[in-house]
Amino acid sequence: MHELAVTEEIIKTVLEASGGRKVKTIEIVIGDLSSFIDESIRFYFGLLTKETSLEEADLLFKRIPVKLRCYNCQKEFKPDETLLCPYCNNLGGDIIQGREFYIESIEVEDEDRDNKEHFRCQ
Ligand SMILES: [Zn+2]
Repeated sequence: MHELAVTEEIIKTVLEASGGRKVKTIEIVIGDLSSFIDESIRFYFGLLTKETSLEEADLLFKRIPVKLRCYNCQKEFKPDETLLCPYCNNLGGDIIQGREFYIESIEVEDEDRDNKEHFRCQ
């Protein structure tokens, strides 16, 4: 299960970014083509953050739908199971969206209100 490795990576990144402050929310973006399972990440996260500054953090998962760019007409579309372009009926295209996996933001408890940090990691 690679969710464990990925969860460890998330925790490491957030611990560094938050500098020991209490973390309230962590927003994670997952493309629909990425094989990571939200619930597994949530499970490992709960186990691995006991008695740390991340213990009470909420994990928010944002799913990104798959998008293709048609090989033929170059238009972007969200494929159904046929993978046919709705504009020209050609089959398939380049994947331009749906493989994402990164931390979009973390929110820490702090004297400053609204202390949201945005960053990306692959
Ligand atoms: Zn097309």
